[in-house]
Amino acid sequence: MQKRIIIFDTTLRDGEQSPGCSMNLEEKCRMAAVLEALGVDVIEAGFPVASHGDFEAVHAVAQIVKNATVCGLARAKPADIEAAAKAIAPAPRRRIHTFIATSPLHMKHKLHMEPWQVLEAITASVTLARSFTDDVEWSAEDAVRTEPDFLCRAVEAAIRAGAQTINIPDTVGYALPTEYGSIFAMLLARVPGADSVTFSTHCHNDLGLAVANSLAGVANGARQVECTINGIGERAGNAALEEVVMAIRTRNDLLPFATGVDTTRITGASRTLSAITGFSVQPNKAIVGANAFAHESGIHQDGVLKHAQTYEIMTPESVGLARSDIVLGKHSGRHAFRARLGALGYTLDEVAVGAAFARFKALADRKKEVFEEDIIALVDDEIAASGEALQLAEMEVRAGTEGPQVCTLSMRVEGQRREARAEGNGPVDAIFKAIRQIVAHPGARLTLYQVHAVTGGTDAQAEVTVKLAEEGRTVVGQGADPDTLVASARAYLHALSKLLVKRGRANLNEA
Ligand SMILES: [Zn+2]
Repeated sequence: MQKRIIIFDTTLRDGEQSPGCSMNLEEKCRMAAVLEALGVDVIEAGFPVASHGDFEAVHAVAQIVKNATVCGLARAKPADIEAAAKAIAPAPRRRIHTFIATSPLHMKHKLHMEPWQVLEAITASVTLARSFTDDVEWSAEDAVRTEPDFLCRAVEAAIRAGAQTINIPDTVGYALPTEYGSIFAMLLARVPGADSVTFSTHCHNDLGLAVANSLAGVANGARQVECTINGIGERAGNAALEEVVMAIRTRNDLLPFATGVDTTRITGASRTLSAITGFSVQPNKAIVGANAFAHESGIHQDGVLKHAQTYEIMTPESVGLARSDIVLGKHSGRHAFRARLGALGYTLDEVAVGAAFARFKALADRKKEVFEEDIIALVDDEIAASGEALQLAEMEVRAGTEGPQVCTLSMRVEGQRREARAEGNGPVDAIFKAIRQIVAHPGARLTLYQVHAVTGGTDAQAEVTVKLAEEGRTVVGQGADPDTLVASARAYLHALSKLLVKRGRANLNEA
């Protein structure tokens, strides 16, 4: 029995498809480097035919990833498969992932195809994909609602045409674990050649069962799991990589398999993704939630202090969460700061460390105690803002009971300094209006403005999240600063920078 489970990460494709999680080329590359360091086997980088931006992002990821296999998604259409082949060409290991729906519902209403036509399309698409790479994965979209006999025939056609990985997605998140597992058992028992290919799970979390279903697939013979960091993905999301990997590791007695994932990098990967997308994970989220390793009740705390295993089934260290609470102060040096960033799971280049360190020093001067959460917020903000077209330079706001509130702001637009002054209905309104004066974006609506205190205390840093929507595009920005208004301006500029990238930077200097 094959003991190795292939971890196929689709954070950059299925995950990126979820509302508000879209990433630009630079963000996808940053995330791909994190996934490679994490040790995933396959990185599905995007859907190259979907747009020029998607193609470019997959192509860029294929140029930087050296160890993992880079995968591009394609429908059963020549143009899709050719675009995927071209996009992944620079990668040392390349996979084309082609799919077609096999359920009666999808064949009839979406594809308008007869079952025999679908079988022909499977043969043609897999054959074409194989002409570009030996590593071809085929998926039966909506497999769970496909008639078993037809699913067997479809899988057989894909294997005959040369697919080496057969993916059985629960596209709509409908399956229960026993049911999902039995599909793999059936295919392995009935389909000729099934023992020569790798079966794969792909589960959605609409009923909260994505991870349970994936593991049921593994228990019944699947040897690849498709998943995403933090479980992001369409609707309720995909199976969470960190949960799948830690379940296999923690319950190795019942799941005697291995993955190539360095689990100590899980926390860092989760944080990087949250910083890039502005999607923070819920505090009680398994493995990566803020409370996942917090023992609040007295009895539990006492037990953990006496012997960690009393209430801990896995250690915080095993997922890369540093246990110590020692905070850094204003006398801490750059070396200690860099070491702490490493312990928190960040891998930054020297320039980024330098910029983050300068901000840390400024924060330490203003705030008595600098907690780990402060450093995380600050570094995330720094990562988000680096290299962006719009940068905050200086800002002054007059607020109080006597209105109107006024903001005077100066910022850099692609390096050029610009200034504006605006009145508003409240200080935040005044800030956003001043920014709008400098970079016009009349079609964009503010759909979310949210403030979190990073830690307790009135001197806590504020972490602000801003969401902008324009013509169906949604972008998220985050900013952190001890001054809530400065954090607000940073978050807004971060979101607006992303919007400009999405628009192709048109009319950047029209105001
Ligand atoms: Zn999916």
